[in-house]
Amino acid sequence: MRNLCSILIFTIMTINLSTLTSCNCCSSTSDEQTQPAPWIVDRFDDIKVLRYEVPGFENLPLNQKMLIYYLSEATKCGRDILFDQNFKYNLTIRRALEQIYTSYDGDRAAADFVAMEKYLKKVWFANGIHHHYSNDKFRAEFSREWFEQMIDIYVKELPIAKEELCEIIFNPSLYASRLNQTDGVDMVKESACNYYEGVTMKEVEEFYAAMVDEKDPHPISYGLNSQLTKDADGKIVERVWHLGGMYSDAIQQIVFWLEKARAVAEEPQKSIIDALINYYRTGNLREFDRYNVLWVGDNVSNVDFVNGFIENYGDPLGFKASWEGTVNFVDSAACHRTEIISKNAQWFEDNSPINPEFRKKEVKGVSAKVITVAMLGGDCYPATPIGINLPNADWIRKEYGSKSVTIDNITYAYDNAAQGNGFNEEFMLREEDRARIKEYGKIGDDLHTDLHECLGHGSGQLAKGVTGGELKSYSSTLEETRADLFALYYLGDEKLVELGLIPSLDVAKAQYASYIMNGIMTQLSRIEPGKNVEESHMRNRKLIAEWCYEHGKDEKIIEWVEQNGKRYIVVNDFDGLRKLFGELLYEVQRIKSEGDYEAGRKLVEDYAVKVDPELHKEVLERYAQLGIEPYSGFVNPSYELVENDGEVVDVKLHYNHNYIEQMLHYSKDYSFLPSLN
Ligand code: ZN
Repeated sequence: MRNLCSILIFTIMTINLSTLTSCNCCSSTSDEQTQPAPWIVDRFDDIKVLRYEVPGFENLPLNQKMLIYYLSEATKCGRDILFDQNFKYNLTIRRALEQIYTSYDGDRAAADFVAMEKYLKKVWFANGIHHHYSNDKFRAEFSREWFEQMIDIYVKELPIAKEELCEIIFNPSLYASRLNQTDGVDMVKESACNYYEGVTMKEVEEFYAAMVDEKDPHPISYGLNSQLTKDADGKIVERVWHLGGMYSDAIQQIVFWLEKARAVAEEPQKSIIDALINYYRTGNLREFDRYNVLWVGDNVSNVDFVNGFIENYGDPLGFKASWEGTVNFVDSAACHRTEIISKNAQWFEDNSPINPEFRKKEVKGVSAKVITVAMLGGDCYPATPIGINLPNADWIRKEYGSKSVTIDNITYAYDNAAQGNGFNEEFMLREEDRARIKEYGKIGDDLHTDLHECLGHGSGQLAKGVTGGELKSYSSTLEETRADLFALYYLGDEKLVELGLIPSLDVAKAQYASYIMNGIMTQLSRIEPGKNVEESHMRNRKLIAEWCYEHGKDEKIIEWVEQNGKRYIVVNDFDGLRKLFGELLYEVQRIKSEGDYEAGRKLVEDYAVKVDPELHKEVLERYAQLGIEPYSGFVNPSYELVENDGEVVDVKLHYNHNYIEQMLHYSKDYSFLPSLN
């Protein structure tokens, strides 16, 4: 199974959700500042949409600006693919809603219309009708009767019956979850995502188990780029996502822009783009591996990008990858921190608190950069990672290393959009903890990201005979747990002070206090009443916090304190907590290295899944009073070619779109797939 972590936003963003979200609508404190308007472009339901800046773009040489322009176009062209991957009726629903929204000539302040607008904004944000994080289907707050009338009046083309469409939207038990990983159910049948059609979980597992060649030193990521279904004769077949296959119309556009990019790129990037184009043409996963090997070896190109079927979080069985894209360039001034970490990678590996036989003898190619993102697309948009660590194939990581980046302009935007929202005051009991977070929160978050991405995922090795697929549906959670524990453990190490990365271990104290508080308590604000924790990063944080609480109970390393009828979680013993992080890392590394499915399952089921309903209720109530949206995402800037006599002379950067404008623009100009695929 792969190391998965480009959705790193969730690893860090929620740790300090406090400082990363803001509220200017219902401040509870009198001295609350009004937010600078430009950072926040929209807010609805549990979502806040921000904008990010692209500092340094103007100073790039023209060919790099053009490269960014062409790669950005390619990044926008895959949006429909993700909608369809998330659920087979998403495009049908989005288009029906957009037709009503744009041509409606009634009262736009009427309750039904306002509710539909909110629903549409949520659908855009989630790339479908299921919540991007909880995976639950959205509840429509407009009336079914009204909606049926709107369809009759405004919707020109509807590929399914009106009745069926309304059932999908309004019947809460139909397609209730995009991703259901409940132990013991048929996860394929119970998940609404569109990676499988007409097959059972057992059939999928058998299909791919038969493909694995255990002797292959370079195993293919089978199933990564296809839908699994049955043909007319009932035979199980893959519909591969490539030019001429499924999603061909969108892929054709992506390839068109990649070819333009190729023309202005320099080597080695030219060859890398070539390999990617070839993979899109053929759908051959060996070609994808070849592309990844080339890509990970390129540490010289200033502009870089991701474009393809990358992360498998959205598949309950972890075979299929969702489409995503980003374009970025190096923020050279900010790279110093990760360079130091990178240079000392072997020291960290050699001193890791795990069984020595599971340490990597030689840590290879940990490249780490701080980048400025220029465009986000697919599964990175509008909710976006703040770090990227790729590729995912274990054997490539082992032989060629991985690229790891921290996206600085995104965290900068989060920081700016958040100030004084009352979160820490509400949930953090001790003034000393709050003061440390205020002073060291940002550097602690940054370092946590660096350590998690640059070192955590890349560390450790498998025992002989273990392939990496043994942990099945628990592998993402356990992998994130492992990387987080690595980061947490080393954040409290004197070595970081010695290397000049942190001024003192107070940085670790700040991070530990907020991590435990978030993992055990405040992240529950993102979960609906009655639900369990499903998302793997949330599970990972809960696992770590709950396990440490339980194992340090006798020594009161972590403690619950009640004051004025409110519950608080406090860390009493930071050294003791660090020891517990080390012990748990030892065990989680053993589980991964030995492929101990049963122990992994038990760890996740015991600590990471079930929510205490009383505590949950309290968190939701206290959180609601603060009026903070728990999720954030971004609108992109736009780029414009400036031509003179048919020749490109410059590329202009604009921050011109609000959220609705951008979404309608993308739906109009970057929508290439039929409603049903
Ligand atoms: Zn990760």
